[in-house]
Amino acid sequence: MRSYTNADVKRLDIEHFIHPYTDFATFRQEGSQITASASGVHIFDEEGRKYLDGIAGLWCVNLGHGRRELVDAIAHQAATMQYYNPFGHSTNVPAALLAAELAELLPGSLNHVFYTTGGSTANDLAIRMVHHYFNRLGKPNKKKIIARVDAYHGSTYVTAQLTGIHATKYGFDSVGQDFIHHISAANSYRRPAGMSEAAYCDHLVQEFEDRILQLGPDNVAAFIAEPIMGAGGVLVAPDGYHRRMHAICRKYGLLYIADEVVTAFGRLGEWSASEALYGYVPDIMILAKGLTSGYIPLGAAVFSSEFYDVIASPQCEGGQLTLGFTYSGHAVACAAGLATIETMKRDGLNEHVRVVGPAFLKALEALNAFEIVGDVRGSHLMCGIELVKDKVAKRSFAPTVGSAHQVFLACRERGLIVRPIGDKIVLSPPLIFTEEHCQETVRILSEAISAVSDTLL
Ligand code: PLP
Repeated sequence: MRSYTNADVKRLDIEHFIHPYTDFATFRQEGSQITASASGVHIFDEEGRKYLDGIAGLWCVNLGHGRRELVDAIAHQAATMQYYNPFGHSTNVPAALLAAELAELLPGSLNHVFYTTGGSTANDLAIRMVHHYFNRLGKPNKKKIIARVDAYHGSTYVTAQLTGIHATKYGFDSVGQDFIHHISAANSYRRPAGMSEAAYCDHLVQEFEDRILQLGPDNVAAFIAEPIMGAGGVLVAPDGYHRRMHAICRKYGLLYIADEVVTAFGRLGEWSASEALYGYVPDIMILAKGLTSGYIPLGAAVFSSEFYDVIASPQCEGGQLTLGFTYSGHAVACAAGLATIETMKRDGLNEHVRVVGPAFLKALEALNAFEIVGDVRGSHLMCGIELVKDKVAKRSFAPTVGSAHQVFLACRERGLIVRPIGDKIVLSPPLIFTEEHCQETVRILSEAISAVSDTLL
């Protein structure tokens, strides 16, 4: 590598690196903060300043930074056999073993794994597979997908369209086919005034059923949902919502795709949340992020045996399942996946999250005392804080205020990284967070909100 100073890196970064979700109005003046090293629950910038990582990188470094177990597993696999093609009848040891591990850990008959390079590619592939599945069943019109407002499913062309976050759409086109439709998010905080949670749940389920009937059940292929919406602002659905949405899918012959990119691998104290916490088994489950604890990119779409049996029946002589990625089942990534699972089991991390998660949320609830905090919500180590200009009327700040960004800056100054999204602050710390780390997070957040409150109001 060429020799460099931090100033060189900042300049080269500005000149050549197009960052995801870049704000060009400020990027060229401010540049980026360089994360130079990381260890456990902390990251360190180029000046050696230490920050508590309240977001596990980006909902992914679940085991914490610099874990020897993962580094060794990756190095060992890279030295043994770093890559060979996965097409046709060619495999490698970690890919086969990880697929079997996943089949064991996931509920129902989710037994068949297609590897991708991340969450977007796994969701994108799942939609293509769903279309293929209905073609194979002789139902070529069953193609529409129902997703939800405020959902986040990725940044490829199709998954950006599945995504229902309005702010991600400015200036971009849609795929141009009438096959993705959105229904309301399950947003209990923003439900109509005076409506009970139970009545709100009835209302959402009815909206879903009405939309299927309007589009025609023979035209609708699948429903896709995150068990808890992440980037939409950590929205926890009302009791019974997912089970009832799943029952509607069954009634009209839709497949249920659970996007567990964030919620699986311990974030909610379970290997996956759909069945363990919400009582339904999806037809397809999407995994990424925590699957390798963010050490190496890897995603997976996991299909039920019933689904697999349809796509795996011989198509015609010489016919193949003609889709796949160069890096499907990359040996080094799959070795990181196996090491992640082994470490989680050995350290009892799901059990740890079941204790520390509820304590974290309880501690965060103290922030409700602030005038600008409208809602504190979440589950286990997936939490969100919604800021408001008017607490009683639940009125939001104007988007130009950047309320959560102000809190993010004030937290960073005090040594804590949180993630600002519009008026929402999201928290998804490494699963190794202790109750002391939770208390420290709440203390810094408290100081930061206090510091910016006057200017915001
Ligand atoms: N699905 C969900 C629920 C996500 O939160 C994300 C990313 O944050 C994705 C899909 C996309 O994953 P990736 O960024 O790995 O493509």
